[in-house]
Amino acid sequence: MSKKVTKIGIMTSGGDAPGMNACVRAAVRTGLFNKMEVYGITRGYSGMIDDDIHKMDSRSVANIIQRGGTILKTARCKEFMTPEGRKKAYANLKKHGINGLIIIGGDGSFKGAQIFSNEFDIPCIGIPGTIDKDIAGTDFTIGFDTAVNTAIDAIDKIRDTADAHDRLFIVEVMGRDAGYIALYSGIGTGAEHILIPEQKTDVEAVIKSLQEKERRKKLVNIVVVAEGDDFGGGNELAEIIKERIPGFDIRVAILGHVQRGGAPSSLDRMIASRMGYSAVNCLIEGNHNVMVGIVNNKMHYTPLDKAIKAKQRINEDWLKMVKILAS
Ligand code: ADP
Repeated sequence: MSKKVTKIGIMTSGGDAPGMNACVRAAVRTGLFNKMEVYGITRGYSGMIDDDIHKMDSRSVANIIQRGGTILKTARCKEFMTPEGRKKAYANLKKHGINGLIIIGGDGSFKGAQIFSNEFDIPCIGIPGTIDKDIAGTDFTIGFDTAVNTAIDAIDKIRDTADAHDRLFIVEVMGRDAGYIALYSGIGTGAEHILIPEQKTDVEAVIKSLQEKERRKKLVNIVVVAEGDDFGGGNELAEIIKERIPGFDIRVAILGHVQRGGAPSSLDRMIASRMGYSAVNCLIEGNHNVMVGIVNNKMHYTPLDKAIKAKQRINEDWLKMVKILAS
């Protein structure tokens, strides 16, 4: 029988994502409602090691649901990857009497949580907060919907100017290892091609298809490429297309960090609130060391060790659809 969790620590870790604040708010207030003491840990695992840990009350999460970024700050922490670092972190939690943790982050953060909970028998709940959506066991991750909407808004604007000048625009979106932002924003803006890390890029096929479009005088084209595509990013792609199809007037737009910021979408606020609320309930009910997800609009719990191994798979049929819709 696991010990009763009475004092919880909440942190955001790894890459930031819009909606993290809404999740922190939900977890803090659910904890307080259940008569727990709630602590905010600043800058993820770094804050655990440096004892940057502060008690939170209901007011400390007022007026943040609509804000991007994270009031708890976030960081990447190499020291936590060492046993000595994790020992220090545990000593600080013990000092405050914290006996349950909620970690909002990506799969790297979950790996850390999994190792930590094994070493020190402290229950950890992971909440998927990443714009990349590259985590299995959940239909959505906090921040993904906002990031896609930001990308779509930008690409719509780019299409206006592409149309005015008959240009081919190559738009690079975020996604070092995952192509979800590229896939969703590309489909949502009617891109001619979408290049993602999960699928080997056949650059010759892209060139052939663009040559065919040039022959048909379809000069306005949008190609969306994930930054981590195996062929390269927007600039590499532009170079080879320029060389092979000199007739095209090509521009590259790299959307970059705008995709991480901004007010969270309604969907992100909703899933963040539900996940934060459920994470505290997991700690109370003894459903420990799981990642909280949402599948088919229902809460879904995946053991952390499984969550860090599985990857969400790209639906191949969607890529086929892109080709048909762009013809
Ligand atoms: P994300 O959570 O967004 O995937 P990272 O991969 O950078 O981001 O992971 C965030 C942090 O989680 C790391 O800086 C580190 O402190 C911790 N972490 C990641 N992998 C491990 C690991 N194998 N062992 C211990 N801690 C880890």
